[in-house]
Amino acid sequence: MAELKADVLVLGAGMVGVSAALHLQQRGRDVVLVDRHDRAGEETSFGNAGLIESASVFPYMFPRNFAQILQYAMNSSPQVRYQLADLPVFLPWLLRYYLASSPDRALHSAMAELPLIRRSLIEHQALIAEAEVPELLRRTGWIKLYRSEAMLANAMRDFERARQYGVAGDVLDGDAIAAREPHLTGDFAGAIHFPAPGFVPDPGGLAKAYAALLKRKGGRFVVGDARTLEQGSGGWRVAGADGAAIAREVVVALGPWSDLVFRPLGYSIPLGVKRGYHLHLAPRRNAVLNHPVLDSDLGYVLAPMNRGIRLTTGVEFARRDRPPTSIQIERALPRAHALFPLGEAVDAKPWMGARPCLPDMLPVIGKAPRHAGLWFDFGHQHHGLTLGPATGRLLAEMMTGETPFADPTPFAVERFG
Ligand SMILES: Cc1cc2nc3c(=O)[nH]c(=O)nc-3n(C[C@H](O)[C@H](O)[C@H](O)COP(=O)(O)OP(=O)(O)OC[C@H]3O[C@@H](n4cnc5c(N)ncnc54)[C@H](O)[C@@H]3O)c2cc1C
Repeated sequence: MAELKADVLVLGAGMVGVSAALHLQQRGRDVVLVDRHDRAGEETSFGNAGLIESASVFPYMFPRNFAQILQYAMNSSPQVRYQLADLPVFLPWLLRYYLASSPDRALHSAMAELPLIRRSLIEHQALIAEAEVPELLRRTGWIKLYRSEAMLANAMRDFERARQYGVAGDVLDGDAIAAREPHLTGDFAGAIHFPAPGFVPDPGGLAKAYAALLKRKGGRFVVGDARTLEQGSGGWRVAGADGAAIAREVVVALGPWSDLVFRPLGYSIPLGVKRGYHLHLAPRRNAVLNHPVLDSDLGYVLAPMNRGIRLTTGVEFARRDRPPTSIQIERALPRAHALFPLGEAVDAKPWMGARPCLPDMLPVIGKAPRHAGLWFDFGHQHHGLTLGPATGRLLAEMMTGETPFADPTPFAVERFG
């Protein structure tokens, strides 16, 4: 069997891996992208809500409000549910998440990520132009709806804080909501429209377009299992379906599956997952949804994707590999039907994905301390579509000895000891 030689193997062809591969290629590296699927963007990067959240300055931290924690603990909240049987698996992680969410540490995470968030849309725009897929970026922004006065008041406080970092938004009353989204029905205390974020109506399609660009420029794609990774005298080697691929350097960009590679190499990194679901539904009659909308009090998003209206749920804490449950989609569906005229489901069953998360809600980006040529780029939590290209740039700059555009220190794996 043929043996492929390259400068860098990138393991994982989700938004994060494909973006890193493109940035390495731009810097002259010969890259082989490796995935167990024969196409890019088939997993988490396929199923998200499509938001390039350039206005989300504050990451999704563990709530510090007792009433909210109690609501989550009761397991009746539509935003967050947990699988009781898996509690022993994720409770220690939740505790770390809670500790990393103190006001000081949450602010540290936000400030560390801010340069990446600010860069997020710019980097996508550059890649989208080069990949010649302008139809995959819509500049509608998104709307967060609030039903209770208390939720709106909280949101306004967060918005005032975000404004200090340049985030723009329009506060909407009922009439203004109706003007922007005439087909929504509900009793809203108000809404905020963030006009700047990008919306991708086919996130899996965007990852595929980026992978196609990589190939057009000479990059190669290998179907293979990252768990076969070995370090030898010639560098790093992975077994592909048509032969091995070998390179001096390797990037682990396996999203929620990154532990399959870092753990056997002896790294203990607290990678957890927040699972989530989506289901596409056809709009009824001539109903049109102009923006993605978050029904904040109920924790789901409706987004006008190419395939239909995509309903995405909040967070489910459970083992990554536990079979899907339909509870969150079932909880959200009647509410979504009441919000917008939805018809039949387009998908045979809900899709499930797992947001790869570190307790401080920052990704791990940088060099692995104990192996020459091993690099990490995973844990992009709720913002992997948003941050894929920006973190790809950061990683590629580090790997090629350029001055990184943002301080990489907060993303170093060494923060976990
Ligand atoms: C419901 C939901 C809504 C979301 N909404 C948004 C949003 O609006 N905006 C946003 O920015 N983010 C959003 N996210 C988060 C975002 O989708 C993720 O952060 C992002 O997709 C992670 O990308 P990734 O490339 O790291 O992982 P993935 O896309 O999962 O890619 C990992 C790749 O590794 C491959 N792989 C796994 N195991 C192996 C193996 N053994 N060998 C070879 N290959 C392997 C997989 O096939 C896959 O292609 C959402 C997530 C969910 C679940």
